[in-house]
Amino acid sequence: MKTLLSLYLVLAVILAQFFAAYFFSKGRTSYWKAFSALVLCISIYLFGYLMIINSSNLQEMIFWNQFQYFGLPFISVLWLLVALLHTKTIYSLNTSRAILLFSIPVITFFMRLTNHWHHLFYTKWEAKQFYGYYSLYMERGFWYYINISYTILCLLLTVIIYFIGYQRNKIDNTRSHFFVFLFASLLPLIGIALVLFAFDERSIDYSALIMPVSLLIISYGILKYDFLEIKTLARETIFENNFAGMVVLGPGKRIIDYNKAAENFFAAVNITLKNYPIEHVLAGEPKLLEIFESVDSQDFSLLIDGEERFFEIDVLPLGDSRDGNTRMLKSIRDVTEERKMQEKLKFLATTDSLSGLYNRAEFMNLAQREFSRAKRNNEELSLLIMDLDNFKTINDTFGHAAGDEVIREMGSMIKSSFRRTDIAGRIGGEEFAVVLKNASLADAKRLAEQFRENIARRKVIFGKQEIGVTVSIGVASIRNNNDASNNITDILKIADDALYKAKAKGRNCVVAMEME
Ligand code: GH3
Ligand code: MG
Ligand code: MG
Repeated sequence: MKTLLSLYLVLAVILAQFFAAYFFSKGRTSYWKAFSALVLCISIYLFGYLMIINSSNLQEMIFWNQFQYFGLPFISVLWLLVALLHTKTIYSLNTSRAILLFSIPVITFFMRLTNHWHHLFYTKWEAKQFYGYYSLYMERGFWYYINISYTILCLLLTVIIYFIGYQRNKIDNTRSHFFVFLFASLLPLIGIALVLFAFDERSIDYSALIMPVSLLIISYGILKYDFLEIKTLARETIFENNFAGMVVLGPGKRIIDYNKAAENFFAAVNITLKNYPIEHVLAGEPKLLEIFESVDSQDFSLLIDGEERFFEIDVLPLGDSRDGNTRMLKSIRDVTEERKMQEKLKFLATTDSLSGLYNRAEFMNLAQREFSRAKRNNEELSLLIMDLDNFKTINDTFGHAAGDEVIREMGSMIKSSFRRTDIAGRIGGEEFAVVLKNASLADAKRLAEQFRENIARRKVIFGKQEIGVTVSIGVASIRNNNDASNNITDILKIADDALYKAKAKGRNCVVAMEME
């Protein structure tokens, strides 16, 4: 009987040591690490028991009983901790929680260590003989009952936590996982009940006998459902290493979790993220606070290392939206490069590369918009169409590259000669148009005349050559709602007719025509 028991315990200790080492080395999550600590404590306790039943005198027994207390007091609290971490009731153990949970076990450890002074743990002990074997018989003191109550409390909580986890979880695999743990956590409770109420002459530690069974079940559970851990781990890794900053807000808009990218984002505004409500953390940044309190997606820009960067802050409600939307995931995405690319593409799509003015399509767009606006507000608006004179000759005389240079020069001349708010485009090969806002026909004619003179006076330098260029300009204008124009093409047509007249008049001149 003793040999059988010893063999059982030896096996259990070896198994426990193996699992402790295995889960510690593979310790991928904090719950695996806590579990390996738990198994280590169990193995200390079982080894102590093994030595007690093989001791021949009271002194040795008391020594090994003391040895057991290096592990025993921490078993139930570690069991609870594993449950808390495993079901994600908590994500990590902070100092205050650790002190709270481990204070009683630590006191128990010292109470047992100093028992010979105060006898508050065991009031007396003796070796009793049973079937020719010695066993340790102890009378329990005051602290023993405190410790055992705490042990029961921890184990009960563990069972409850797994039960809640089991009930709440909708994923079948996780449910059965929790069920295995729930069952395994019930066993030590039965062990304790037996120790407390079926304590007999033989003083067998039923707890020690049941523990290896629990251990086996749990280890089996962990290994069988290992993929769940990998899945969770994968999700955690993606969260942690995501390029988007992520902040999880819980009830009361308290920051529950955040990733590295979020940390970096807030570091740029000198804010350290902490597990406090956001109105506390972002008290110094009212604009950001407003964004983080809002349930809508928002834009935000920030000066980082002297460069303006743009962020899109999106929101994803977590859980039931009926909860008042206090639980949410805020994601912070740096969209600076995207914006720059968009701007570049827009620029390329709307700008003529040679002259640097708007291309025909964009000019028509903007001109039409301006035309409608002017009509609506009954404002004046004028349009110039310019065509370079004898451009074919320029190309023929100086070469096509020289012609290009002339067009480039025209672009920059137009840009510097008209207001920034006017709309200028290259609408044909060497044909340009400018919409002059709030300009009457007379104003437009005067400006066109000035521009024509400027061009005629100026020489375009190409290599060693000086190229004289002249331009003919047609001008048209809308004045009020009475005129017949309905859209920009009407007024373009009039300006084109005017240009034609200018060409006919001998070029290098301006002709203005009012709408009928
Ligand atoms: P006009 O005074 O009547 O306008 O005479 P023109 O020679 O300028 O006649 P027209 O406007 O019909 O000729 C336009 C010429 O401009 C034809 C074409 O070879 C040239 N051209 C059009 N686009 C470009 C360009 O991008 N670069 C160069 N170098 N030449 C161009
Ligand atoms: Mg021409
Ligand atoms: Mg032309």
